[in-house]
Amino acid sequence: MTTKTVEKRILPVSSMGNERALTIIRYGSGSIGKKAYLQAGLHADEAPGYLVMHHLINLLDTADAAGNIPGEILLVPVANPIGAGQWRDEVLRGRFDYFDNTNFNRKHLDITEKVSEKIQDTLSDSPDQNKAIIRQAMTDILDGLSPLDESAQLKHLLLSLSFDADIVLDLHCDYQAVTHVYMGSPLWPEASDLSAQMGSEATLLAKVSGDNPYDEACSRIWWELAETFPAFPIPLACMAATVELRGISDVSHALASRDAKNIFLFLQRRGLLPGKAAKLPPLTNPATPLRGVAHIKATAPGVVVYFKKPGDKIKKGDVIAEIVNPLADGQANRVTHAKSDIDGILISVNVDRFARPGRLLAKIAGKEPLTGKGENLLTL
Ligand SMILES: [Zn+2]
Repeated sequence: MTTKTVEKRILPVSSMGNERALTIIRYGSGSIGKKAYLQAGLHADEAPGYLVMHHLINLLDTADAAGNIPGEILLVPVANPIGAGQWRDEVLRGRFDYFDNTNFNRKHLDITEKVSEKIQDTLSDSPDQNKAIIRQAMTDILDGLSPLDESAQLKHLLLSLSFDADIVLDLHCDYQAVTHVYMGSPLWPEASDLSAQMGSEATLLAKVSGDNPYDEACSRIWWELAETFPAFPIPLACMAATVELRGISDVSHALASRDAKNIFLFLQRRGLLPGKAAKLPPLTNPATPLRGVAHIKATAPGVVVYFKKPGDKIKKGDVIAEIVNPLADGQANRVTHAKSDIDGILISVNVDRFARPGRLLAKIAGKEPLTGKGENLLTL
C-alpha cells in the first residue's frame, strides 16, 4: 500500500476574496522515527527548486509504490503562495513582501527564549528525553502563536510543519551561480554528506547569519539551548540547510533530475529511504565561514562586463569585472575595474549587467573571516 498523501492548508484570509493554500505532500511510514522536510520557492522567483521537486516527486512516487519508505518525508513544492502571485511588469517577483518589503527568507520566528523558559526545570541526563521535551515545548509555543499578517502566518505555518524534522532542506538559487550550501557551523562536519552529495562547490557556515533566515529558525535553537544549559546533553536535533541550486536560469531536466537524485541518495544514506546509497562522492571544496564571503561592489555606474565566471578560483587582485560608462571623459575614465581583495571561489555574480556605486556584483567565498561585515551576513 502506498503512503503518499496530499494535503492543502488554507492560509488565513488576509485580503477579502483572496484565499491561498499551501500544499503538503507526505510520504513514508515514519517507522524509524525520522522526519525530513523539504521546500522550494520560499523566494518564489527562484525556478530551479520547483523543477527539482517535480523530479523528486517522481522518485518518491516510485519508491513508495515499490515498498516501505521508512522515514517520514514532507515536501512543500511551492512554499510561498504569496510570492508566487507577485507578477509585475511581466516578471514574477516573489522575493520581498509587497506590504513591508521584507525578504521572505528573513525574520522567521525565533522561539529560543520562550522554549528556554519552558524547559529550564525539566531537562534530564538523557539526550533523547531532552529532545522530546524541547520538541514538546516548541509544539506548545507554536500552537499558542497566531500572527496577524499573512506573511507571518505563512512563516508560522512553515516552521510548524518543519520544526520537529531531523533534516530540513530549503531549496533556493542565486542569480548566476554554482551550487552552494548555507548551514549552521555547529552542524559541520557531520552534515558534509549533504554538500558532497549535492556536488556543492562551497559550503558557507555561520552560527548566526543575521535576520533569521528560515533554515536557522529550524536549526539554531538546538545549539543555542545547548549553550544555555551546558549541564544537560542537548543534541543538534535538526540539520537544516539552504541549498542554492546554481542560478535563476539554470533550469533544465538534466540538472534538476540530477539534483533530485542527489537529494534522494542523501536521504537514503541517512536512512529515510529504503535501499543502500551509492558511495558518497568526495567533497568538492572544504566549508568556509559565511563571514569570509567577500562582496564585490561596483564603485561607478555603467554596464558590467564580467571577466570571471562562477566556480572560478580567484586570487587577490584579480579583476572580476569591468564597469564601462560611455559618458565618462576619456577612455581610461570610461572603464572601472572591480577587483577581488581576497583569494577564494567565485560563487555568484549578479543577474543583469548594470552597475551603480554600491551595487553587489559578485560574491567570493574566502577561507578567512573578514572584518567589518556587521551582524547581517546575508545579502538582500
Ligand atoms: Zn533564495
